[in-house]
Amino acid sequence: KEKPASFKPNSAAWWEDGDKVPFLFLARAFDLIKGESGRIVITNITCNVLRTVMATTPDDLLEVVYLLANKIAPAHQGLELGLGDASLIKALAESCGASEAVVKTSYRDLGDLGDVAKVLRSKQSMMFQPPPLTIAKVFNTFQLIAQASGKDSQERKKNYIMSLIVAAKDCEPVYLMRLLQAKLRISLAEKTLLTALGQAAVYSEEQSKPPSDIQLEEAGKIVKEVYSVVPVYDKIVPALLHDGVWNLSKTCNFTPGVPIGPMLAKPATGVSEIIDKFQDMVFTCEYKYDGERAQIHFMEDGSVEIYSRNAERNTGKFPDVVAALSRFKKPSVNSFILDCEIVAYDREKQKILPFQILSTRARKNVKESDIKVDVCVFAFDILYLNGKPLLQEQLNVRRKHLYDSFEEDSGYFQFATILTSNDLEEIQKFLDAAINASCEGLIIKTLEKEATYEPSKRSNNWLKLKKDYMDSFGDSLDLVPIGAFNGHGKRKGVYGAFLLACYDSNNEEFQSICKIGTGFSDAVLEERSSSLRTKVISDPKPYFRYGNTLKPDCWFEPSEVWEVKAADLTISPVHRAAVGEVDSNKGISLRFPRLVRLREDKAPEDATSSVQVAEMYRAQANNPHKKKQDDLED
Ligand code: ATP
Repeated sequence: KEKPASFKPNSAAWWEDGDKVPFLFLARAFDLIKGESGRIVITNITCNVLRTVMATTPDDLLEVVYLLANKIAPAHQGLELGLGDASLIKALAESCGASEAVVKTSYRDLGDLGDVAKVLRSKQSMMFQPPPLTIAKVFNTFQLIAQASGKDSQERKKNYIMSLIVAAKDCEPVYLMRLLQAKLRISLAEKTLLTALGQAAVYSEEQSKPPSDIQLEEAGKIVKEVYSVVPVYDKIVPALLHDGVWNLSKTCNFTPGVPIGPMLAKPATGVSEIIDKFQDMVFTCEYKYDGERAQIHFMEDGSVEIYSRNAERNTGKFPDVVAALSRFKKPSVNSFILDCEIVAYDREKQKILPFQILSTRARKNVKESDIKVDVCVFAFDILYLNGKPLLQEQLNVRRKHLYDSFEEDSGYFQFATILTSNDLEEIQKFLDAAINASCEGLIIKTLEKEATYEPSKRSNNWLKLKKDYMDSFGDSLDLVPIGAFNGHGKRKGVYGAFLLACYDSNNEEFQSICKIGTGFSDAVLEERSSSLRTKVISDPKPYFRYGNTLKPDCWFEPSEVWEVKAADLTISPVHRAAVGEVDSNKGISLRFPRLVRLREDKAPEDATSSVQVAEMYRAQANNPHKKKQDDLED
């Protein structure tokens, strides 16, 4: 836990240099981290783990980093463990000679499958003790589990899991189970891991004296920045080991084929707020299209990949776009990455269609001949062109590259409609025109200064203005159903209302924000109810936070994300969203929430964060229009 300067990496107490790193080393570190809440101490522990591995067994560093990140591959490869509680319970019961019923009861009592595994393993005496687990063995087995498919794959997966459980001892079962569930939940955020990785790399470089705080901070920043454009540990870790942290930005480059997190916008509540925020800056407004974010990568060999907002491979959904792409690019263009919105489009009437129509397209392996919903690509940014990253260029330069490199084809490929003006009335008219063209509103962006592309960042330099900012507080929220109340009367047999939560990434918990029962058609209610019925869990997860007067009839594994609108945000004694941010004991809740849509492109951890909820609450308090409405109501 010490600040690493006083610590000399030494594995002697654990393993011989060059031997494989025992899994117990990492499990003990997880145990230490779990007991801490301070970011600096957690960073130090993680840094010490990484330094030790770098100094003794660098060949294991990649696997150690992956396990610390609780991942097994980069997001765009789509390789996931995908294990449900049911299959883990089965494997655990069989490995420990217990019945599934006993495991389930114990899970209900302890609330954590890892703790159940620890108890069961400690009671078990074995005739033959398997060799100790190593990091490499655990990671490789995870990969085998993720890759297992086809006939007998369930059985093979179970056997892989059992081979790990029977060898786990001490605190290993706890973290083995949590890693298998892909829910480590020890408050080790990926940002902390990246900082620690940078720091460890500085320590591991030959130095006559310990590095300074400034060097450590700088190294952490470099690794975070590089990860934001190359989110692939398989590239970063070898580059760090080979050429060191100070060269990392040169040795690890943004390239087509590896998606980056998209730049995101902050909500604004009115045109005048934009003029206030962007005072003295040149800014530009673009239509905010209502479709699906797409990062289109065109490789030098002519192959194409389309990635979603979450960096997932979405190429199979848009074979029509893939096939048509070379028609829009000029002959001088041989590689590029575009940032776009793909929107459902009626080519006969030359009209944008609502998002709901786009969502009827199948998600995978679409055949061009089966396509019923046409789409148009609205390109608003270019991030890479002919071998050169453009992220550090200002938006006006990137736009020029975009316009110079592509030809529009109405209804197939168009540039986002833009207006560059700081005249309040003109912007208001442009907003109205955007709404008339079936867009959601505007995205306003700085153009010439502070206008680089900021991957994975919700930036102050992009503001989103939605049409309903007038009657609500600026933005909808993306929330996770964590519980439900049984329906009565007309809603008998389905759920009548749901308990929704936002996500607090610092504490890794879902915090309740409101009950919702409005905005559901009968069909949608039926659909959501039957989907969530498969996610029912016997007890709330330890990482749910909610007031104890809330007593839903059932709880759910966090699995889906719903976009929700509301009249406003209010301080609540019952809900726990953003507790401690605005009020020390009370949370924030939504008044009159109503469902807008299911967000298939977001995972539960991508839900609106508690920090965003608090920001929205504060923005609402400062919104003169809202204040006026409140006065009228008073
Ligand atoms: P966010 O992506 O900011 O978390 P979200 O996914 O809920 O939020 P919105 O709040 O509706 O989406 O707005 C941002 C999204 O708007 C972008 O992610 C992008 O998909 C879409 N978009 C449409 N037109 C544009 C544009 N011209 N520039 C940038 N984004 C645009």
